[in-house]
Order: sequence, then structure tokens, then C-alpha cells
Amino acid sequence: MEELLDKLLEECRGYTGQGRVATYIPELAKANPRDLGISVLNSDGRHYQSGDWHKRFTIQSVVKPILLLQALMDNGEEYVHARVGVEATGKPFDAINVTDQMLRSDHLNPMVNMGAIAMCTLIRGSSYEERFQRVLELTRRLAGDPDIYVDEAVYCSEKRTGSKNRALAYLLQSCGMITDDVEEVLDCYFKACSISVNCRDLASIAFVLASRGRLPQTEERVFPSQYARYVNAVLMTCGMYDGSGDFAVNVGVPAKSGVGGGIMAVVPTRMGIGIYAPALDAKGNSLAGIQVLKGLSEKLYLSIF
Ligand code: GLN
Repeated sequence: MEELLDKLLEECRGYTGQGRVATYIPELAKANPRDLGISVLNSDGRHYQSGDWHKRFTIQSVVKPILLLQALMDNGEEYVHARVGVEATGKPFDAINVTDQMLRSDHLNPMVNMGAIAMCTLIRGSSYEERFQRVLELTRRLAGDPDIYVDEAVYCSEKRTGSKNRALAYLLQSCGMITDDVEEVLDCYFKACSISVNCRDLASIAFVLASRGRLPQTEERVFPSQYARYVNAVLMTCGMYDGSGDFAVNVGVPAKSGVGGGIMAVVPTRMGIGIYAPALDAKGNSLAGIQVLKGLSEKLYLSIF
């Protein structure tokens, strides 16, 4: 497996030159566009890795499935679904998902910013700091890494410059979908996006979703299997935003991308995959990362279709 990963990375390295690192969060512009790494946690319990798998980056939107999981664990499926729908938006991650009609829950999707910001209000906690801490704890538990921390520089950078997300959050407030203090809700969202991870962490988190809620080593159950079904379905239809259809055809597994350059891919019952390649395509997805996944899917017959 490691040989296969080395070979795939070698073949796909050229694609890193075709993408661009995100700059709208100034701190993210410091990433090296040439970086490329992968980690796979296989059902044999072993991690296989190659390239820059150990480099740390911020989780960004790959935290959205974790926010959704926490909300599901706190409230159950019916409650969450009634507040944030699951229809694929076919839109970019920062889309304003409303036209001339009043915003409704079925206009939201937990994998797109507006829905993810709303998701923060569904997580339990006496303060938004406590809600964030619970998300951080869940991330550590899923990744099996108690030392996962927040990248303060990225957090401050996004908090300072995140006017589009502020606009989205105030729109939610104007429609009665946020009743708490908007800045506090956003603070929870920005911090969650700034959690620092590496490919191995993403592979481990994906593995728990692939094994329907059980941790890799101990097989301890973290969440009921129906929540894995829920999250994986939403990842399949909207995890790569307006690139989800192409991704379904070319790779064929539930996955989530982030503008930090990470992709987490879930191969149900078989493996969890974490990728890092910060040069992005026009849709904000890791360009070389998708190519690596396409190659891996072809070689190992990973597509679920
Ligand atoms: N923190 C980023 C934002 O809200 C996450 C977006 C992403 O990773 N696609 O803009």
C-alpha cells in the first residue's frame, strides 16, 4: 500500500502547480502550494502514509461533519433535520442560499457555511466557548489524538476578515434562525475551522465514519450507526460543494474538503483517508488532492457505485 501511495503522489505532484492556495483568509496564504501528503487508515488497523502527511494545517470546512455529528448526538436526527436541511445546494461554500423568498431550513445544508454556522447554535453548552470545547473534544476523540489544538493565528485572521460569514450569520438572524449573539456563534464557527490537524488525524476521523461510529483500536462506539449514515449521505451529495457531482463520478465516496487544503474521504467499511494539498481549484477544493483520490479509487475500486 505504501508503494502505491508513493507512486500516486509522484504522478499527481504536477497538479499542485495548477491550483492556488486560499488568500481570502490572509494567514492561509502562507501555505506552501507544493505540499502534498496522504494518510490511509485501513480496515487491517494500520496507517499507511506518504509525502507531507505529517504537516499541520487548519481543518476548515472538514470540521462541518463534526459540527453535524455533535448536533446529532446532542439533539437527535429529527430535531437537527427540522432546522438545517440536507438538500444538495450545488452552490459554492459561501453561497447566500436564498433568493427572493424567505429563508427556510430546507435551503440550508450542514456542509455549506450558512448551514454550518446555524449548526453551531444546535450544539449544547452553557456558552459558545463551552460548545466549541465540546467540538474540540469530539475531534480529539475521533482522531485519537488528545493534543489537537487551535491554530490561533488562523483563528484571529479569519475573525478579523470574515465579513462574508458575518453577512451570512446576520441573514440567519434576520430570519429568526439565530437568536443568540451573532458574534459568539461566529466565534465558535471560526475557532472550529481553525483546529489544527494533519492527514493522519483526518484519516482516523474518516475511519470512524467508515466503521459507522466505532473507534479503530478499541471498537468503542462514539455515536449510533444511523448518524454515520446521515453524515456520509450528506457528504456524498454536498461535501465537495458544487464539485460534488464530478467527485461522485470520478471518486465515488463520501468526502469533505476544506480551504486549508485538506480532504477527508470515507470508504464505508474499508478505510479512512486524509489528504493535504493546499493549492485549490476554482471551487475551493484541493486540486491535486482530488487527483490522488481519483487514482486511488481506480486502483483499489473504492467507488461505492
Ligand atoms: N473557514 C472557512 C470559511 O468559513 C471554511 C470554508 C471552507 O473550508 N470551504 O470561509
